[in-house]
Amino acid sequence: MPEVSQNVRLLEMTRDPIALIYAACRQCYSAKFAGDMFDEKDKDPQKQAEFIRKVVASGHESPLEHVKFTFAIEGVSRALTHQLVRHRIASFSQQSQRYVKELNFDYIVPPSIAEDKELKDEFLNIMGSIQASYNKLLERFKARGRVGERANEDARFVLPQAAETKIVVTMNVRELIHFFQQRCCARAQWEIKRLAGRMLQICVEKLPEVFTEVGAKCVSLGYCPEGENFSCGKYPLKEKIIKK
Ligand SMILES: Cc1cc2nc3c(=O)[nH]c(=O)nc-3n(C[C@H](O)[C@H](O)[C@H](O)COP(=O)(O)OP(=O)(O)OC[C@H]3O[C@@H](n4cnc5c(N)ncnc54)[C@H](O)[C@@H]3O)c2cc1C
Repeated sequence: MPEVSQNVRLLEMTRDPIALIYAACRQCYSAKFAGDMFDEKDKDPQKQAEFIRKVVASGHESPLEHVKFTFAIEGVSRALTHQLVRHRIASFSQQSQRYVKELNFDYIVPPSIAEDKELKDEFLNIMGSIQASYNKLLERFKARGRVGERANEDARFVLPQAAETKIVVTMNVRELIHFFQQRCCARAQWEIKRLAGRMLQICVEKLPEVFTEVGAKCVSLGYCPEGENFSCGKYPLKEKIIKK
């Protein structure tokens, strides 16, 4: 039952993303057919990227929805995935606690607990007790003839939010930008902020033309929309900008 940490891997992304976004953008403003523009041989990725930047900056974001990224994520807590799956314009496939037994469940230790020996010992004791209770429930269920997912689905009620899980996530570029704007914010919860940071790093490597200037919402707004008590101070408060 070890303590584990985050692992993020890009499984797949849309091929030729710049040409695709460009063709979708151009279709809106051109008499030509996107099917032909997509195949144009003289296409210049730099010019296309510049065109895309201007269109997106104007608020015309639907062309970004044609490009998707799929990530495999492990070493994260159920507390994290509960937040992640609230994002509705995304697809998720998560490891089931009904079909996968947690006889030796892994868990995530928050840094605030890991750095304090007394707290960490207490945390590890609780994880051990939970594991013992879970295993005991399964044994008792078995004795009563309740096995497989029928046993797992009820025994899992004692598992903690710290329990490790694995999930596959697909988001299109427009949703990814929204996700990063929310979850890269200094105020976001540390674990999902760490995940968003790693996903953004991968997106920047793979599609710098779109993601280089993406980050917490203050990055695109130029001000912090959080209240005075919550702002990290990196950007001026919204009220200050509006007054100006
Ligand atoms: C700092 C922070 C604190 C939070 N605290 C809480 C909390 O205390 N309690 C809680 O319950 N949640 C909380 N949330 C979660 C939040 O309420 C949302 O569920 C989460 O951010 C995902 O939804 P979304 O609207 O941002 O975007 P997504 O679901 O990712 O959707 C993307 C965009 O699509 C549009 N959209 C999607 N669905 C609809 C719809 N049905 N109607 C209209 N437009 C839609 C919106 O423009 C939306 O921004 C918190 C989130 C953050 C970032």
